[in-house]
Amino acid sequence: MGVDVGQRYLAVATDTQNKTTFFPGKEVRAQADHYARLRKRLQQKGTRSATRRLIVIAGRERRLKQDRDHLISRRIVDAYPHSLIGLEDLTNIRERTRRTRGKRASAKQRRANRHASAWAFSEVQSYLAYKAVLAGSLAVKVDAYHTSQACPRCGYTSPDNRPEKGLVFMCQACHFTLHADLVGARNITLRTLLARQDWVRTGVLSERPEVSDAEAKAARRQRSAEVRWSLDTSPAL
Ligand SMILES: [Zn+2]
Repeated sequence: MGVDVGQRYLAVATDTQNKTTFFPGKEVRAQADHYARLRKRLQQKGTRSATRRLIVIAGRERRLKQDRDHLISRRIVDAYPHSLIGLEDLTNIRERTRRTRGKRASAKQRRANRHASAWAFSEVQSYLAYKAVLAGSLAVKVDAYHTSQACPRCGYTSPDNRPEKGLVFMCQACHFTLHADLVGARNITLRTLLARQDWVRTGVLSERPEVSDAEAKAARRQRSAEVRWSLDTSPAL
């Protein structure tokens, strides 16, 4: 199975049987905005009591986030027992999410930046990894390259498959349409399946994708571009 972590949906989990679970992030974003407003007000005040309040609030916000991450990872591990769980290798996530900083950043962009930094994607992944082991499952990292742009049905890969970077994935080659975050989770699932095949074939499980060897990287990407999702269901739309 595979788990896609993000901002609109904190997590989308799916498996090869197409059993899918969504964890929406709307409430979390509203909460983050609330705390950001509160922080701004207290910072403007600048008094000593305001500073004390700021510290209290920071702790509360952090605990809320941790509780949520624990809850999400718990639910995923319970819903997919005895699974090989694929997670995106997010080592380069900062380079992947385009950010504009400074005076040129619009209000919308600044809000997006805050959401990106406010949400530690890796936290839910690390909780998942250790809970998986305790439950008799195992988590591995897979290549995050183009997971949201590749069509799981025909393989066509392009940023245009995500019109206006919206919620809907629409393949420009075969017109396959699906919830964009579910496409991400499916592609992660397919890559996890490849990792499992290698494990069975060689007896060695790679816990994260090889990145130092350019040739191995290219071969892996070629393989993941060729694997196809054969189920024709799209429950999310
Ligand atoms: Zn397609």
